[in-house]
Amino acid sequence: MNQKASVTEKGAVLLGKHLACDAFDETRPLRAVTHAHADHMAGLPQSLKKARKVIMTKGTKDLIDAMQGTSYLRRGHIQALDYGQTVQYEDEHITMHKADHILGAAQVMVEDHDGTRIVFTGDFRIDQTPVLESDILVMEATYGSPHCRRRFHKDTQGSLVRLVQHGLKQGPVFIFGYHGKIQEVMQILNSADINVPFIVPENVYRISRVCEKHNMRLGKLMLQNELEAFALHEKHEPYIGFYHMHSRDRIGLDNFRVCVSGWEFYSAIRRTGENEYLVALSDHSDFDGLLEYVRRSRPKLVITDNFRVHYGETLAKEIRKHLGIQAIALPKNNIF
Ligand SMILES: [Zn+2]
Repeated sequence: MNQKASVTEKGAVLLGKHLACDAFDETRPLRAVTHAHADHMAGLPQSLKKARKVIMTKGTKDLIDAMQGTSYLRRGHIQALDYGQTVQYEDEHITMHKADHILGAAQVMVEDHDGTRIVFTGDFRIDQTPVLESDILVMEATYGSPHCRRRFHKDTQGSLVRLVQHGLKQGPVFIFGYHGKIQEVMQILNSADINVPFIVPENVYRISRVCEKHNMRLGKLMLQNELEAFALHEKHEPYIGFYHMHSRDRIGLDNFRVCVSGWEFYSAIRRTGENEYLVALSDHSDFDGLLEYVRRSRPKLVITDNFRVHYGETLAKEIRKHLGIQAIALPKNNIF
């Protein structure tokens, strides 16, 4: 059975006979990109050159265009799909289904000639992700350890809104997160009627515009190098600066700062510095969410992704123990 799915040493999730997801594999004519995070776009230039077809959702295509420029994907043959749309390749059918993670994120299902349903979840948060019934399930294992259980049931979004409102009383607020998560935060704040300007660098601006095109409502965006943005900054008037997590050590150091990250399991908000807070807003399932997906998907075999995180082995063991379902971590012995 596990001949039908695998994860290679280079992180390619192989489903059925023809498809490689999220990394290049030279033996596979088809490549899928589950979403536009860097660790799921491995070897994409090679796939664009060598694969017959590269499959992704329209949202993911628009995000990659915004990040890399529109000529980047034109080097290959792209098929951009809607959720639920199926493509056939020889005797297999491939469908992308919604995953609640970032804009465009997808789960991939391959149904082969004898009706075996092979599913790769990609990255997902259980909340709004439809659980697909499967025979073989390949799943992410980001929070695949029993230590990664969220111990709080507080309204994290409400806490975030109140924290930002509190910060704005003192002046500008700087928020740091990963692509996709930043736009989710904008959406939360905008729908809570926080309508100060959102000042962003070019890369965050481009990605935010794509999210708006896909019907997210984000608020009043302003590029950081616009005169109006300078003026707000000079006068120390309230605004919110949104920056990628990688800029955290060099931007907004003297301001009220908020980092959004899933790597927090004990409280919705934690103070991490004099004027800095961590908000536990995650776009991944925690350990219980991962087990819940497996329970409801009812596979005969689970393969945990042991390439992208270090909890693949742990999660496989816990699935065997708690659910009595055969589970293995691949690739084996990955040294993270
Ligand atoms: Zn991701």
